[in-house]
Amino acid sequence: MTTGLPAVMRASVLLEKRKLAIEERPVPELEPDEVLIKVASVGVCGSDVHYFAEGRIGDFVVEQPLILGHEAGGTIVAVGDRVSPDRVGQRVSIEPQHPDPTSAESLSGRYNLDPHMRFYATPPVDGAFAEYVKIQSHFAFAVPDEVSDDAAALMEPLSVGIAAAQKGGITAGSRVLIAGAGPIGIIAAQVARAFGATEIIVSDVDDARLKQSVRFGATRTVNPIREDPAALDLGVDCFIDASGATPAVLSGLRSVRPGGTVVLVGMGADEIALPIPVIQNNEITLTGVFRYANTWPTAIELVRTGRVDLDSLVTGRYGLADVEEALIASTRSTSLKTIVTPGS
Ligand code: ZN
Repeated sequence: MTTGLPAVMRASVLLEKRKLAIEERPVPELEPDEVLIKVASVGVCGSDVHYFAEGRIGDFVVEQPLILGHEAGGTIVAVGDRVSPDRVGQRVSIEPQHPDPTSAESLSGRYNLDPHMRFYATPPVDGAFAEYVKIQSHFAFAVPDEVSDDAAALMEPLSVGIAAAQKGGITAGSRVLIAGAGPIGIIAAQVARAFGATEIIVSDVDDARLKQSVRFGATRTVNPIREDPAALDLGVDCFIDASGATPAVLSGLRSVRPGGTVVLVGMGADEIALPIPVIQNNEITLTGVFRYANTWPTAIELVRTGRVDLDSLVTGRYGLADVEEALIASTRSTSLKTIVTPGS
């Protein structure tokens, strides 16, 4: 089913730390259960910047050339033998993971925790800063016409926000504190609103970002430079850390009500000292999120119905030859989501 397609494609390849180059790569060959997607839009993520700047994230080290980018949407242009040819031409959002379906984690529904996961832009698996990518057909989710290519790409960070809200038990009437008004914090605020939270307190040290968060669901903002959230007696049901800042994690932990939940999303210090009596005496549930599982249908519905706005997060757009600029731009405090368009 690959007739009429080119044999090679252009890709932006990370050769080593801080060194990107446009290279010609073979267009991926399909397994029977896979689809080939012409990439329209890719969101730049903090993890892409980490791999570019540091050459590693924790135990994941870039040891051979790697194509970055894992937030992607596009159009199916070819299908494997076991996939309906009717899917050619369909616009899709990509869930960029490939778990082993027989692992205990997959069988229990938590395939994101599969230790043998193959994930886009995580060594040694290539990502989406390329003209074409492939994925198993069930991880290419059709999007309706009213969902833009950018929004199709940004279903990925939205899925992180949904996973965090689900872990935090956010529901109608919930009171939520979110630390960090960057892209994930802003998305988490929108998801909290969509899940029915009635109080959404967002904290950040940047006043411009706080102001912006009000547009996306924050009902109250706190700048910890001026006031410590822990001193405000917030007693929230759920605290989501999207900052990775140790002081924010610690004051958030002291801001949840007895029996409340803390969800760590932001990546900061590997180890911090925790106030054990606060956790014990209040039976606080402390957890994290690692990617997501089974979130795409929810993500697409939230965007389709206008409950979550992803298009307004886009603050910059770059072609494949300008991925380095896109990565740098995404680190500016005025940036929310930078987009790479490999077809342009
Ligand atoms: Zn991401």
